[in-house]
Amino acid sequence: MIDREKLLAKGKEARGKKELSRHIKGDKNTIRQAALAKCYDCTCGYADGKVDCRLKLCPLYPWMPFREGGPLKAVRVLSQEQRETMAARMRKCKKRGGVPKNANSL
Ligand code: SF4
Repeated sequence: MIDREKLLAKGKEARGKKELSRHIKGDKNTIRQAALAKCYDCTCGYADGKVDCRLKLCPLYPWMPFREGGPLKAVRVLSQEQRETMAARMRKCKKRGGVPKNANSL
């Protein structure tokens, strides 16, 4: 088993290192950050270089940070109701001339 403390001390600076460190300290990561941390851990801190692991059967592969073509981008699918709510909020905001409350909630 890999000594994660050693891995963090000697591992390359790469996406996922900070997230793995956060996980080890017991701090929270988002799902996306957890995927980055796992890829960093899985590749022993990208010991073979910051390259595509090419393990397409891995469930995390779409988010692998060095995947050829880049990691999958999060796509937000909004319902018609959510779009209308968002549009109404933006109209209200424009009238007020400021940033809407809960701008990141949708
Ligand atoms: S995507 Fe690749 S590097 Fe990431 S966890 Fe899966 S096998 Fe490991």
